[in-house]
Amino acid sequence: MAFCVLTGFISHETATFSRRPTTLENFENDLLLFGDEIAAKTASSNLEPAGMQKAAERFDWHLIYTVAATATPSGPVERDLWALCADRLLHTADQEKHRIDGVLLNLHGAMATVDDYDAEGLLLQQLRACLGPDIPLAVTLDLHANVTDRMVDNGDIFCAYRTYPHVDQIATVMRAAAILERTMRREITPRTRLARRAMVTGLDHGRTTTENPMTQLLAQADALEDQDDSLLTISLCAGFPLTDLEQAGPSVTITTDGDNLSYAAMADHFMDFAWQHRHFDSNTYLSVAACMAVLNQARQDPAAAGSGPIVIADHADNPGAGAYGDSTHLLKGLLDAKIGTAAFGSLYDPAAAAQLIAAGEGAELSLFIGGKTDPRYGPPLFATGRVEHITSGHYLAGGPYAQGTWQNLGPTVVFRIATIDVLITSNCVQVTELETFTHAGIDPRRRDVIVVKSMQHFRAAFEPIARQVLIVDCGALATEDITKLPYKFLRRPIFPLDLE
Ligand SMILES: [Zn+2]
Repeated sequence: MAFCVLTGFISHETATFSRRPTTLENFENDLLLFGDEIAAKTASSNLEPAGMQKAAERFDWHLIYTVAATATPSGPVERDLWALCADRLLHTADQEKHRIDGVLLNLHGAMATVDDYDAEGLLLQQLRACLGPDIPLAVTLDLHANVTDRMVDNGDIFCAYRTYPHVDQIATVMRAAAILERTMRREITPRTRLARRAMVTGLDHGRTTTENPMTQLLAQADALEDQDDSLLTISLCAGFPLTDLEQAGPSVTITTDGDNLSYAAMADHFMDFAWQHRHFDSNTYLSVAACMAVLNQARQDPAAAGSGPIVIADHADNPGAGAYGDSTHLLKGLLDAKIGTAAFGSLYDPAAAAQLIAAGEGAELSLFIGGKTDPRYGPPLFATGRVEHITSGHYLAGGPYAQGTWQNLGPTVVFRIATIDVLITSNCVQVTELETFTHAGIDPRRRDVIVVKSMQHFRAAFEPIARQVLIVDCGALATEDITKLPYKFLRRPIFPLDLE
């Protein structure tokens, strides 16, 4: 008889330091689905629910769908929104518990609500209380999860992504599903151990595009899993430092068949290595001025012409890490430096977008753009330009990161200021896809400079077309310098705030 598996996808990386709350509208603008509509509307994406369908086909499961919800990172999730998602899952679990053989949830692991900064820990605790101790509970996590004791105490199987940029969402679901299948067949009894150190950042932020402590540990994890049949899976999470949570930071979770003290030593080995290499960072972070100097140098090099754009990541204003997406520091630097043809993706400013749309394509006008959420990260910029193009901001992503998902910038304007086409958007979205530009009539391959508000995910689509990648830290909310953040709940002392 087919196993019956309860599933749900609730994913939000919450920057509790953000002054912008996470609302129902944020989820509706991104993805918010319930029940049986989930399968059809996510089938062609690389999101976890598509992985669940694949797992159901492979293992002949009957899936009970509940909720599929994700949104761009921002501040704590509002109470009613959380209730809408969690209650749907818990209510369905309660109604169907007589026929549920197992649970496979797809969570982020760094979600916070206004009431509890360990939202997933609470959810798993409530689900465990509803279903009892005997129904196996498997969880997939983002590689930036802040894995808490409460999460591990209430789940059996934990499986995190192994790529950053994240391109293995479906593969992660399949790994968790294979372990859950064996558990439901009563072949194995999974247990999970967790370890962390006094660090809130580390593992090179989890990047897997270079040789670094993260990729070294992932290679060790692969080798150990191959050698030991009882070692079901090892997950390395880099943590998310913008969630002010006592147990935030890098961790390892080791899921095994039965328990054995040797796995505690293994977990310690992984985290000792992470601690020893805590200072490693594969990025070079440029100030805006230093970035302009590099661009100026590049302009003197005629050999570089036609070899693709210089791609600049506005690292600290990455909406994908909860930053506001409207910092103007880098844009101002580019305008002052009088660079060549550039496209700037993007500046979140719904009021400016509305004003420019009202003026219409071809209109020339002056207005303040950006800098409206927190002027410390660059005040509104007074700019004169021309409305080149107006779009719905809605397009299908084609890159390895978000392939097959619809992205929604909201009503969007290409506003040309001097030689820079600035995408002014109504929704705040990390730029990871070439389609963010091409849907607006901009071919990023044909510009001298492309700016993306992203930290790392942009690399999946933009590194292949880039002549050079530069990382700028303009000091916005997601800056590398986290020492200024007003932590209240994080355990102390901790690296890099108190410990060297
Ligand atoms: Zn992540």
